[in-house]
Amino acid sequence: MDLVQLEFDTELTLGKSIENIGYTPLHDTYKKFGRFPMIDPDWNETAFDTIDLMVALRLYNNKHLINSYVSADYKNSSNNILQLRQQDFGLPSREYYLKDQYATELEAYRQYIVDIATFFNSSKVDAETDAADLIKFETYLANVSQSKAETRDPAANYMKYTVSELYTNISSEFEWLRYLNGFFQVVNYTFTNDTELVVHSTEYLIKMTEKVLSTPKRVLANYIIWRFTMNRVSNLPKSIQEIEAKFDKIVYGVQSKPARWKKCVDYTNGFMGMAVGRLFVAKHFPEEAKSMALDMISGIRKAFTGLLNTVPWLNDKTREVAKEKEEAIVEKIGYPEWIMNNTRLNEEYKGLLGNIADDKYFANTVASLRYLCNYELKYILEPVKREFGASPPTVNAYYSGTFNQIVFPAGILQPPFWGRDRPISLNYGAIGMVIGHEISHGFDDRGRLFDKDGNLVKWWDDEVMNGVNTQSENIADNGGIKQSYQAFLHYQKKHGQGEVLPGLEEYTPNHLFFIAFAQQWCVNYRPQALKVAVEEGVHSPSMYRVRGPLANFEEFSKVYKCKSGSSMNPVKKCAVW
Ligand SMILES: [Zn+2]
Repeated sequence: MDLVQLEFDTELTLGKSIENIGYTPLHDTYKKFGRFPMIDPDWNETAFDTIDLMVALRLYNNKHLINSYVSADYKNSSNNILQLRQQDFGLPSREYYLKDQYATELEAYRQYIVDIATFFNSSKVDAETDAADLIKFETYLANVSQSKAETRDPAANYMKYTVSELYTNISSEFEWLRYLNGFFQVVNYTFTNDTELVVHSTEYLIKMTEKVLSTPKRVLANYIIWRFTMNRVSNLPKSIQEIEAKFDKIVYGVQSKPARWKKCVDYTNGFMGMAVGRLFVAKHFPEEAKSMALDMISGIRKAFTGLLNTVPWLNDKTREVAKEKEEAIVEKIGYPEWIMNNTRLNEEYKGLLGNIADDKYFANTVASLRYLCNYELKYILEPVKREFGASPPTVNAYYSGTFNQIVFPAGILQPPFWGRDRPISLNYGAIGMVIGHEISHGFDDRGRLFDKDGNLVKWWDDEVMNGVNTQSENIADNGGIKQSYQAFLHYQKKHGQGEVLPGLEEYTPNHLFFIAFAQQWCVNYRPQALKVAVEEGVHSPSMYRVRGPLANFEEFSKVYKCKSGSSMNPVKKCAVW
């Protein structure tokens, strides 16, 4: 617990010392990476080595050029395996480099690079040249990467290779073994030519490695270290953060930096989520919340099984397997039990102890990244543990296809999603719908590809899902509200209508159900943020997450008496679940 306090304090109270320490820790880090050519005339081209730099950055969890991580194998879900994907980008998505409509954002990105370089005393002319080369290189990578839609299909992209096959199928010149063993040596794991791994972006890796081998060293070093720099600007003094703010305003519509304490909470939760979770749960998650959530889940799962029994488009064979899968879904609520065990919790963060000092903010952040990297690479030494994967304070929920698991952290079992002392209709409308949503993910266009044990196998007759190309989140939203409403009606039969809200007596509990549903997605987008949400987000923008499912739901129109054919009650309604 002291460590959480220390991590948080160094984040929060050291605003002054961040200013005092200045940029020395950053420049020290650059030296470890062989210097940042864009700002450092002492960069040595002859000494530069791409693999060394990629490895050095990977050890700080910076996965540039190749996104690598260890997790459950889609085709053998009890086995942890290394997986390789295309990288993400400095701008929100690849489209920002390729489409004219994002010209303003791309220019802001270029200016951001130039401003940072000149901030560190590069000449304007050199900075402009370096920035142009860097963006040209990144645009090439954007061009050869897959769109979000293309990466969605796990079956189409999955390739299992041995390391030897990386040489034969992707690049014979890229030094795969030196790259992989470069970072896996920190957990004493050695790849050989026969070691298997999973590749999700074969085409990208072919083109990327080819490009890297023919790109000037200066451009590669600038690009990789630029991406690291961009990730760390928030940990540096105010003067450089002002440059970042200009960029954030244009690209994300951010008008002012969030308060420092908010960033501190994010960082501390990001690095030590389970320890923060222990403190959070003690204060904000009564045992009762867990049992009430379990009750709701059980009702909503019954409603979903009811749907599985009745939807006309499932054939009997698929219906039976789907029911088996539903029965096998594992529920994880609130937090993992082990965080209540002090010994285990201390063990968990052992790697951080001794690396956090109260006067070294930037160094602490970098040490925490290193810890996180080691922690995750170690998975390769163990079989898959189907543990609670989110930090307890997380305000989100998810379905895991490889674990066939639904997870509701303590953070989402709070208002406005859930409350102990409020009308039950509000809980069904809000968290109930989220529960139905997550269950539906197990049976949407993506979830249906995984069987009850989380393996990517074909158990679904293709004919039954023909023509259903809708994104999985929309399927889950449309299904989620129906299942929760069914469960709510069932609850009403057993326990009565439920309470109304004082002062709002004209709204019945059934009205309130839908109000709570809509209210939980309340949001006010700035135009730039809406653009990012549309291009990048897996969810539809929030207003459509409300209007779409309600317009598709008969019962909503009954309760609110919407005229048939009106915008909220169209004659033609869509449904999967
Ligand atoms: Zn979802």
